[in-house]
Amino acid sequence: MTTAKEYIQQIRDEVHRLDAGQSEYLQAVDEFLPTVEAFMEEHPDYIEQNILGQLMEPERIIQFRVPWQDDEGNWRVNRGFRIQYNSALGPYKGGLRFHPSVNLSVLKFLAFEQIFKNSLTDLPIGGGKGGSDFDPKGKSDAEVMRFCQSFMLELSKHIGPNTDVPAGDIGVGAREIGYLYGAYKRLKQYDAGVLTGKPLGFWGSQTRTEATGYGLVYFVKHLLKDQEDDFKEKKVVVSGSGNVAIYAIQKAQELGATVLTCSDSNGYVYDSEGIDLELVRDLKERNRERISRYVEKRPNATYVEGESVWAFAEDYDIALPCATQNEIDEKAAQQMIKQGVKIVGEGANMPCTLEAAHAFIEAEVAYCPGKAANAGGVAVSALEMSQNAERLVWDFDKVDSMLDDIMANIYTNCRDTAEAYGKKGNLMLGANIAGFKKVAVAMMAQGLV
Ligand code: GLU
Repeated sequence: MTTAKEYIQQIRDEVHRLDAGQSEYLQAVDEFLPTVEAFMEEHPDYIEQNILGQLMEPERIIQFRVPWQDDEGNWRVNRGFRIQYNSALGPYKGGLRFHPSVNLSVLKFLAFEQIFKNSLTDLPIGGGKGGSDFDPKGKSDAEVMRFCQSFMLELSKHIGPNTDVPAGDIGVGAREIGYLYGAYKRLKQYDAGVLTGKPLGFWGSQTRTEATGYGLVYFVKHLLKDQEDDFKEKKVVVSGSGNVAIYAIQKAQELGATVLTCSDSNGYVYDSEGIDLELVRDLKERNRERISRYVEKRPNATYVEGESVWAFAEDYDIALPCATQNEIDEKAAQQMIKQGVKIVGEGANMPCTLEAAHAFIEAEVAYCPGKAANAGGVAVSALEMSQNAERLVWDFDKVDSMLDDIMANIYTNCRDTAEAYGKKGNLMLGANIAGFKKVAVAMMAQGLV
């Protein structure tokens, strides 16, 4: 009889052999596999039926050419992808990322994480992700539109409101979703449910824009509540200045915290009086400017060029990494622990390296993994799908309170699962087992398909 430990090692070796060189994907796999050992031990039938072997192989990977013309008339080409990873719980669901760093490994890690994230929401959605190495930064609206139209010309063959429902991610916001939807509508029949994160004017959901950032803060709020504490007077360090960071800052401030920092890929801003969010929104949302310009309007703030915000050397309570994967390595994690951080809530997907995450767990910092803490975005996407299907639009307060309830459930589920498996406080293990359990049960029930 193969033990759970041996079985997991075999699966790990096989994934490393098949997907050698896919570093981000292998990192996500290496984070996940060891944490489900105790669960697999309880279910020898899952080992017999090779459930992990089934799980680790994406159901389908689509790669395609995206030709487009820039404003100078040059013929350009980018690479497009859609990873349809797992549909045990529902239609593939997950964002599209447009960023030069996008490749198969990055999208496979994101799609893999998405399976468990979506499962944790308790809504009927499977896991997927897609995108392109196209960089919308510095492109005109017309260029972005032509790119989106070309991207959708191919993607439209593979998606649909009941099969695969993409949304935004880094580099894909309301503008891109609008162009993508416009293209889809001309190519196929009118069905708003094919994409989520749509603008409010055409079947978008209230609270979707805010959902990832708000959801992150709600998750941490429920954790704090467990400790009979709250956000009041907490010092919070945030990285990023995109959609997730902006609404995390807004909600944390609303709950009484002082947010000291935000950043972009060039550097970070430190404002000891608390980040002026309207100024950040003006720079980033309305004018697509660099964050360095923040100090022009707030001379008492400091801008640090070329350094990660995680080198920040003042004391604080809560860290909300909302920029991108692997922004916190072990050295940064040790620095953060030195500055007194008590909670790390991941707004981005996999912002901590595996070593950093383990360093937090070891130091008893409450480490809230992205697949749980940032699930608010996709949760409200699923609520958008429901509204589209019933041709209704719910109001802001209704969606916001549903989001808060969903985040409370995710937190409780992760906490209780960790405790049930003898690892009280280990939310990484709690999230992985709780997320995986539903998928595994569904896959077993559906048989070999
Ligand atoms: N890109 C977001 C995420 O990482 C949202 C995906 C969605 O709404 O489908 O979860």
